[in-house]
Amino acid sequence: MRKGTYFPDKPAAVWVSSDRLTDGVVRSLTMILRTYGCRRCRDGQGCMMCGFIRDSAPTHPSPDDLVAQFEAAMVRRPEGRFMVKIFTSGSFPDAAEMPPAAGLEILRRLDADPDVVKVLIETRPEFVTSEAMADCRQVIHKKLEVAIGVETSNDRIRLDCINKGFLFEGFVRASRVAHQHDVTVKAYLLLKPPFLSEGVAIRDIVRSARDVSPYAETISINLCNVQNGTFVEKLLRRGDYRPPWLWSAVSVLRQAKTENPDMIVTSDPVGAGSRHGPHNCGKCDSEVADAINRFSISQDLGDLRVSCDCEELWQKAVELEDVSYGAPLVH
Ligand SMILES: [Zn+2]
Repeated sequence: MRKGTYFPDKPAAVWVSSDRLTDGVVRSLTMILRTYGCRRCRDGQGCMMCGFIRDSAPTHPSPDDLVAQFEAAMVRRPEGRFMVKIFTSGSFPDAAEMPPAAGLEILRRLDADPDVVKVLIETRPEFVTSEAMADCRQVIHKKLEVAIGVETSNDRIRLDCINKGFLFEGFVRASRVAHQHDVTVKAYLLLKPPFLSEGVAIRDIVRSARDVSPYAETISINLCNVQNGTFVEKLLRRGDYRPPWLWSAVSVLRQAKTENPDMIVTSDPVGAGSRHGPHNCGKCDSEVADAINRFSISQDLGDLRVSCDCEELWQKAVELEDVSYGAPLVH
């Protein structure tokens, strides 16, 4: 965890934004609860680009502390009806990370809150068991969604480039279990983990969107951004990694939405425009990031109509990196 004062009853972060659902746009309250952290990462098997363990608690917070974190976050609620997204930077249904006494109490309170229209919890697929989903469904009867970082449908890329440690069939199984309990699925895909050329990364996510579409109502395309203290940061410093171009994100969103018109396809270009985040030439970054944000809410491909001279350079990089063994040609 980061140095500094640690309050076990305060969440790591809280913010209000908007989310596109199948039946319209809703305000959302996102909270990152500070748990002891992702079990797999604690076991020394962290993902190559994930630095969230630095935000985790130094010891297990008590169930009361975790419920207090939740209540502290709920104070920031937007006006009217809203959706609640709970991230732990790990897995909410993992009893070792989120004790059921806390997790189920939080869901019970959300169920009783008439302004909350939907709840999203984040998890690895192995924790989406029939028992865990049935326990959740005992206490929450409104819209519930599990968000799973499947990252790609390609097992080689997920295992070797991300170190995620599960197979696509694990995601498919989790999706089936969730749906049996009337729980919807949001799939996170990761554009451009390390060791892939820009073109391979684009094709991987277009293919993945197609592959996850029977199993997820929503996909969210995360654009790899480089967090401090991660393996990918070392690659970046050595010049062996470049975060994805925003043009690649535009291209992937366009293709994925065109191929899967009924699926909600979103992306939040976190860190856009910085050297550590997805970027183009520097001049057009904020305009293209805005277009991606607008599209994520509207689902209207017209919102992705943006242009800049650097689009040609991007196209060349995509073509040429396929023959440069993945070494980035333009930083
Ligand atoms: Zn540009």
